[in-house]
Amino acid sequence: MNVMSILSADWLRESIYIICVMLFIFGLKMLSNPRTARKGNLLSASAMIFAIIITIFEKNIQGYQIIMVANIVALTTGYFMAKKVPMTAMPEMVAIFNGFGGIASALVAVSEYYERTGKLDDLQLSSVTIAEQVVQTTGSIPGFHGNIIVFITLFLSILIGMVTFSGSFIAFGKLAEWISGKPVKYFMQHYLNLLMFVATLVIAVLMFLEPANANYFWYIAGIAFVLGITLTIPIGGADMPVVISLLNSYSGIAVAMTGFVLSNNLLIIAGSLVGASGIILTQIMCKAMNRSLVNVIFGGLGGDVAAGDGEAGHVGNFKSMGAEEAGMILDMAETVIIIPGYGMAVSQAQHAVKELAKLLEKRGVDVKFAIHPVAGRMPGHMNVLLAEAGIDYDKLYDMEINRQFSNTDISIVIGANDVVNPAAKTNPSSPIYGMPVLNVEESRQVLVLKRSMKPGFAGIENDLFYKENTTMVFGDAKKTIEAITRSLEEMGAK
Ligand code: NDP
Repeated sequence: MNVMSILSADWLRESIYIICVMLFIFGLKMLSNPRTARKGNLLSASAMIFAIIITIFEKNIQGYQIIMVANIVALTTGYFMAKKVPMTAMPEMVAIFNGFGGIASALVAVSEYYERTGKLDDLQLSSVTIAEQVVQTTGSIPGFHGNIIVFITLFLSILIGMVTFSGSFIAFGKLAEWISGKPVKYFMQHYLNLLMFVATLVIAVLMFLEPANANYFWYIAGIAFVLGITLTIPIGGADMPVVISLLNSYSGIAVAMTGFVLSNNLLIIAGSLVGASGIILTQIMCKAMNRSLVNVIFGGLGGDVAAGDGEAGHVGNFKSMGAEEAGMILDMAETVIIIPGYGMAVSQAQHAVKELAKLLEKRGVDVKFAIHPVAGRMPGHMNVLLAEAGIDYDKLYDMEINRQFSNTDISIVIGANDVVNPAAKTNPSSPIYGMPVLNVEESRQVLVLKRSMKPGFAGIENDLFYKENTTMVFGDAKKTIEAITRSLEEMGAK
């Protein structure tokens, strides 16, 4: 037995698949904690590389040289994209990945369709006759007759794959502001979408009856492509990260379907893991915004992603001060809660925040961090940034910290806006009404660090900025924090 025959043995491949699946699951578990997340990511990625390598040795695989070249190109591209992308653009990057995941599943469906029906074409006969002929001659049936599961999963592979592909690129376009983030609405929109979906089912039945007619297959692919667009355009830019998480789940389901088509256990399990984790993440995000998934998909909340560009009408007077004065106020504080938001990510202020927290602690101040579940642009965005800066995980608190604001001297809001907007509790007509927010206004004093009075992602006015105990400190978050730290240092020990 030579090395090649051992490497291409089914038992070895299946055993390695099981090990890879276990590594995926361990990796996912490790991703749930910032301390182990990097290792978890590496573990799962290494398992995927092993899975690809052992698959290439499969006996039936032809043209493995092309597959290897494609893998090297893809790995290199992915590596440089991941290195280059700023954290704030991560949802866009995930959208692109989902889109490619979707088209990959759809392409497998295309190749399998032709692989399975090509024999029918060659014979130039009606499918029933072919089926009968082949049963007589070989005992097996080509096309899909007799294998309804393969047919259904192939149909779902092309349907979900194409929807994920076009939907993900629309989501990417909205987030990257290549297209307007405004919800696009038109007459009977949801009914038309339903009609398209029903049409794919009807065509699927026709395709089952006449598998050799490739037109049916391409009609399904075309309608699914359009459906991905029409399902995504009515959703507002503000909800796009949720949609991306949902599409991530779809891409996993498409991969699992592909696994059934190819009888590949690894794809079935890996796809199911992505499908399940994507839907769990979608639910977590909806819950944090107090929205139902139906409301996200059909609600059309949020205008342009750049809604914050427009200056919203002021609802009162606000106070502002410079960084030096802010330093003086902090000099007197004993308890401080820092609330980071999207602006901290934009300005990359996490390391400056760490230095400020360190200095405050040196001066005997009790410093805590309040992390809202949807602060920033993706779940865990703030945790990742603060972990990167080396801030102790034990100092990070989720919504449970709301009980502590009333006993806090100063809350420092760093580039956060919607997640500290009291309108979510007090204004039933506000689009964010009902979303749990951080009760920063209950602390004795609030310092809000941002560049202007412009609204946040939801594009709405924030009453917090006009409260008696709130003071605005204008400027780029990183520069402001560095200036505050300098001012505190100049004051010397307490
Ligand atoms: P917001 O988007 O509400 O506000 C961010 C603020 O940061 C802006 O008001 C902006 O004001 C300020 N800012 C931007 N750049 C800088 C800078 N360089 N220096 C200082 N300030 C800056 O952020 P939040 O984190 O409070 O809220 C997140 C929003 O994203 C919520 O609406 C949430 O629902 C939404 N969202 C989040 C998801 C997630 O998973 N995290 C998913 C889906 C939606 P200015 O321009 O004046 O500086």
